[in-house]
Parts: sequence; C-alpha cells; structure tokens
Amino acid sequence: MTFQDLNLNTPLYNAIEDLGFEQPTPIQAEAFNVVASGKDVVGIAQTGTGKTFAYMLPILRHLKYSRQENPRVLVLVPTRELVVQVVEEIEKMSKYINNRVLGVYGGTNINTQKQAVAQGLDIIVATPGRLYDLAVSRVLQLKSIQKLVIDEVDVMLDLGFRHQLMNIFDILPERRQNIMFSATMTADVDELITDFFINPTKISIAVSGTPLENIKQERYNVPNFYTKVNLLESLLSDKDDYSRVLIFVAYKKMADRLFDQLEEIFPGDSCVIHSNKTQNYRLRSIEQFSNGEHRLLVATDVMARGLDIDDVTHVINFDTPDYPENYMHRIGRTGRAEKQGHALLFSTETEQEAREGIEALMQMKINVMELPEDVTISTELIEEERPQIRERNNPTKRSAEDIPGPAFHEKKEKNKKVNLGGSYRREITKKYKKPKTRGDKTFNKKKKKRR
Ligand code: AMP
Repeated sequence: MTFQDLNLNTPLYNAIEDLGFEQPTPIQAEAFNVVASGKDVVGIAQTGTGKTFAYMLPILRHLKYSRQENPRVLVLVPTRELVVQVVEEIEKMSKYINNRVLGVYGGTNINTQKQAVAQGLDIIVATPGRLYDLAVSRVLQLKSIQKLVIDEVDVMLDLGFRHQLMNIFDILPERRQNIMFSATMTADVDELITDFFINPTKISIAVSGTPLENIKQERYNVPNFYTKVNLLESLLSDKDDYSRVLIFVAYKKMADRLFDQLEEIFPGDSCVIHSNKTQNYRLRSIEQFSNGEHRLLVATDVMARGLDIDDVTHVINFDTPDYPENYMHRIGRTGRAEKQGHALLFSTETEQEAREGIEALMQMKINVMELPEDVTISTELIEEERPQIRERNNPTKRSAEDIPGPAFHEKKEKNKKVNLGGSYRREITKKYKKPKTRGDKTFNKKKKKRR
C-alpha cells in the first residue's frame, strides 16, 4: 500500500514527502479508514510502529480550519516526554496546515500554560492530571472536543491514572469519537474499553520482530506458585546456560513476591521492575541487568516494554498471559540479532486455556517438557490459589427457608424472551412486516387505531 491509496490531501502529501516517508506502516494503513469513519477504535500497537500518525493522519485530514478558541481534539498520554514527542510529530505533519497545537503537562508553571490555552487552539496533547487542573480552572473549555485519543493506555492504567481518566470522561461531551492505543492488552484495559467505548473496532498488526524460528519454545505444566518457584530454582542453577534471564509475571504483587523468593534462593542475583518502583529504582535495575551485575530480571508486561536489552538468553513466562499478543511481545525479547533464543512457559491447570490461545495464534504447538526430577511438588498455596472460604453460621444471613422461592406464577411466554440480539429483530421484522426499532413504541397502538 502507498500513501496515494489513502484519502489524504495536498498539504499532508507534501508534509509526508518532506519527512521522506515512502509508504504507510501497517498500522497506519489499517487505521486510516477506521479512524476516519468516526467510529470508536481500539488499536494494539507498540511504540516505533508509526502509531502516532496512524491516529493523527486521519484526524488531521478531516479537521477543518476554524477560528474557535476551544480545542476539538484531545490527546491524552501518560508522560510528559510523550507529550513533547507527540506534539513534535503533529507539528511535522501539520507543516502545511494552519492549525494550533499545544502540549501541557504537570511539573511546570500552570500559568504559562493557561496563557497559551487562552490564545485558542485546535489540538491539545496532555497528561491527565494537568489537563484536569486546567479544565477545572475553567481556562480550558472541553465542550468542543469531538475526538478523544488515549495513547499508551496500558501504561496510563498501570501508573494508576484510571481515576483521573474517569474525571476527564465526566467533563467531556458525550458525543465524541474515542480512539485508544495500547501496546499490551491487560485486564484493566479490557475493562476500560467495555465500560466506555461504544462497540469499538479493533485493529492490531501481526506482532513483528523476531522470527519464531529463532526462538526455541518449551513449556511446563506446573500445579502452583511454589512449585513454579522450585522449577525456577532447578533450571536457574545452571548459571552458565541461564546467564541473562528475563522473567515475566502478570502483576506487581506477583513481581515482588517472586523477587523475594529468588533473593532467598540466589541472593544478589536478581532485580525487579514494575510501576510502583521509583523511576530511579527502575533505571538502576535495568542498568544492573544490562551490564551483567544481575542475571535475573523480574518484570511486568507493561514495564518491560521500553526495555531494549541485548543477549537475553531466556525469557521465562512465570505465568501464562491471558492475551496471546503479550506472549509474543515477551518472547520477542530473546533470540534477537540472529542469535538463538529460548522461551519457557509455565502453566497451571487454570492457565491451560490461555496457553491454547497462544498456540492458536502462533499456529504451532509448544513442546511440553517433564518436570526435572529434583523439582518438589509443593502443596502450599498462595492467597490467590486458595479456594474461597465459605461462611458458616453467619447469624445475619437468612436461613434457607427464608430465601424467596420461585415466583408464584410462570412468566408469560412473551416475557421470557431474553437478549436474542439480531435474530430477535429479524423475528419482529417478520411479524410486524417492517422493522420495529426502539423509537417506535407506539407503532402497534397506531396500527390498532387505524383499524
Ligand atoms: P511512533 O510509533 O508513532 O512512535 O513512530 C515511530 C517513528 O517512526 C517516528 O519517528 C515517526 O516519525 C516514524 N514514522 C512514522 N510513520 C512512518 C512512515 N510511514 N515511514 C517511515 N517512518 C515513519
């Protein structure tokens, strides 16, 4: 596909030519028409794939010249660095367009930003906290926002910005297009989409990077956390082979828990990164892992993303990611630069379904290995693995005979119908000869009257 295949205009073509881009990246090609259509969009793409222009090109293409002061496009990003970067990209692409772009973020003088806002603008790029402060101060009016872009939403939620996002959603006009980009899918991201997006179109590009042939993949069936730790101990005692190992876990608490275990078994060998650690701590951990001071790094999906570390001998999936794309991102950390990489996957009984999802995405089976003989099967369970304890003899609970029985009469046949979606509509259409929509509740009444 070429840029000519996209419905751009001369100012954009000229800017692209000046930038020296030859063709749209896959995510740009895929996103253009969907974003331009005005529908809600969820894009899965990492930094470096050209995702900024994937959402900005169609927005700039359709943003009409205006003199009004209130911004019409809002781009929310998690960090001030990203604010600066996104503003720069938009400015490059707007070289021949007369529009006003402003970036705002916390930690700087708000009054200077207020003055800038008061000059009038079309596109505002912001971190959530500062945007909210400006909106509350009433200098910034959000009533004209037509398009909301949330970039790196996984990082945003991982850093604990959910509450701030909610506050912002509350003051935005309801009629708007929501566009969201995330590199990884997490349960938090999924929840946000379900709660706030209207039937979004999902676009994602095949995870590129390391060809799978470069990575030797193996998996183990392991019953629980402590047995997984025992298996790690057995494998990682071969310090020559396992000389630079990236260990992935799903969430922060698990990262800390595993780090504590590893510190006991291999004192001074490990470091850990997740979003509750300070920036300095994270940088130090990465540094120590890169220079070989520590051979083991425990990381969560979201935080491991920015890492560019060479020569990772093994990627160990301490848990099985729910979203197969995350597995692809994880294992892409090994086997770089023509070197053979190794990826191991640990799965409990409850993680088997996720494992099958991964195999389905790759269209290949991962070799299952026997647990080494020295691995003890633990029966101890962590909090999350214990069955939920049922309450007994709770005096405030109603006894069985107080619990209401079934309704005293059966529902009428017509009231039993539940959520039949499309086919129900078809039935209704058949019955009433023309589509019955939510808007014409009185259609039957009218029909009766007419008779
Ligand atoms: P992003 O993923 O948005 O952070 O973009 C990564 C880099 O790729 C940026 O420096 C862009 O300027 C550049 N880029 C974006 N689109 C293209 C393209 N179609 N061709 C070449 N480079 C691009």
